[in-house]
Amino acid sequence: MHPALIALSLAFPVQDPAVQAADISARIRTLASDAFAGRGPSSPGEEKTLTYLVSELERVGVRPAAGDSFLQPVPLVAVQPTDTPAMQIAREGAPNDGAPKQDVVFGRDAMWWSKTPRGEVRLEDSEIVFVGHGIVAPEYDWNDYEGLDARGKTVVILVNDPGYTTRDDELFRGRAMTYYGRWTYKFEEAARQGAAAAMVVHEEGPAGYPWQVVVGSWGRPRFGLATGGDEPACTVESWIEAAFARRLCKDAGQDFDALKRAALERDFRPVPLGARASAQFVNRAQVSESHNVAGVIRGSVRPDEYVLYCAHWDHLGTSTNRAGDAIFNGAVDNASGTAALLELAESFAALDKAPTRSVVFLATTAEESGLLGSKFYAQNPLFPLECTAAAINIDVLNTYGRTRDVVVVGYGASQLEEVLARAAAKQERELAPEPTPEKGSFYRSDHFNFAKAGVPVLFLGRGVDSREHGREWGEAQLADYTKRRYHKPADEFDAEWDLSGAVEDVLLYFEVGQALAQSAEWPEWFEGNEFRALREKSRAARH
Ligand SMILES: [Zn+2]
Repeated sequence: MHPALIALSLAFPVQDPAVQAADISARIRTLASDAFAGRGPSSPGEEKTLTYLVSELERVGVRPAAGDSFLQPVPLVAVQPTDTPAMQIAREGAPNDGAPKQDVVFGRDAMWWSKTPRGEVRLEDSEIVFVGHGIVAPEYDWNDYEGLDARGKTVVILVNDPGYTTRDDELFRGRAMTYYGRWTYKFEEAARQGAAAAMVVHEEGPAGYPWQVVVGSWGRPRFGLATGGDEPACTVESWIEAAFARRLCKDAGQDFDALKRAALERDFRPVPLGARASAQFVNRAQVSESHNVAGVIRGSVRPDEYVLYCAHWDHLGTSTNRAGDAIFNGAVDNASGTAALLELAESFAALDKAPTRSVVFLATTAEESGLLGSKFYAQNPLFPLECTAAAINIDVLNTYGRTRDVVVVGYGASQLEEVLARAAAKQERELAPEPTPEKGSFYRSDHFNFAKAGVPVLFLGRGVDSREHGREWGEAQLADYTKRRYHKPADEFDAEWDLSGAVEDVLLYFEVGQALAQSAEWPEWFEGNEFRALREKSRAARH
């Protein structure tokens, strides 16, 4: 375990809030009703959702956080090729007798796209190089790009990180995925290296889902922030199917499995694959506006210091090409977290005396499109992030009763866990790490954008150790949700839910937030954490 760096001496609240299962249930029922049409950003469902959230925040007595408005406009852009994009591979040294380039089959061999908002996208005869896991991590003394000038090249990258394959706890973080294992990181690093194109190899084990999921999720318009000036991106980003990657290596006289093994070593160096990639397509873009909803309770002593709660209000909306139930109600994901956010706002507003620090309630948009609402907030914070003591994110509540465990996603990260552990003890519960750290869940919800800005974050998963039915039963509940309801129209409100566990979790969120809001201390990331240096840098700007 990580030792505490400073002793957090936080007072726990004496005033318990009136968090009731019936209230949470009623709010979820409203947000997940068909009238809200699946809460798609920039859809009629958004208007309904915003109206409801603003009226609830007003009613409980929270102040607007964006000047005199509760709404922070978030400009979105949806980018999509006008037609099936084309890509070809040409072998180097192939007889120059007009030997045709090989067409890459979109959907079967690979999925590719460009973030370039509009106009023609061209990749021309770009040299293909295998760069292992595509990781540059000074703290692990690791550089897969060592000795390569990647500018203009097409880099082929393995998904996940070396520790995942070896399960060696000394290598990165063993089975637990670091950010270096996320595909988002792979594209970001390739762009930093100046690569023209990046191809991430899909393998079901390390990716965590089958190829069909890649085809399904990358065959639609890509959403981004329409603010421009974003981080650099490769001209072409792509996932390639494992069999295609093997062929690419084989044609170069290389063995994919041998390359993979070599990539597990610190002395790995990039390997040219003796081929060049070209691609041509035309993008079109559609710009729209969505909104974050933000309210604040001003602190009584240190109003310029903040504790922030967030929950994404958006979900997948309504499908236009689907027979039967086409509404993705998102009752658990994340009408439940949004309901909790409102409960917390109401609980803080009902305190006899405002907390010493300010408390911010942020309902984000476009989380399902790539954490975009929180990304926009982190780029355009309504309150300075260096003065934000913590960001507590609520993405889904437990709907199957009380549990003994409190599951912390990304366990072992910051002192917030010490505050949480004390609150959990009062409920006779214990903290537990997430059961599947290799899935990289920590990097897949809104708190991550706050972490990237250095703000210590807290994100809980659903407990599984059911008080009434035991652990196996709890795990089965979770598995059933993932299989039958997660991101499906079947994620609907159910009046039979047991929300007693949700009430306990919301109380934990409240107690942790209140303890921080009554304190003058700044919780820290633990030593060795990847976000610690960022926080130290921003601390100077604090006062
Ligand atoms: Zn969610």
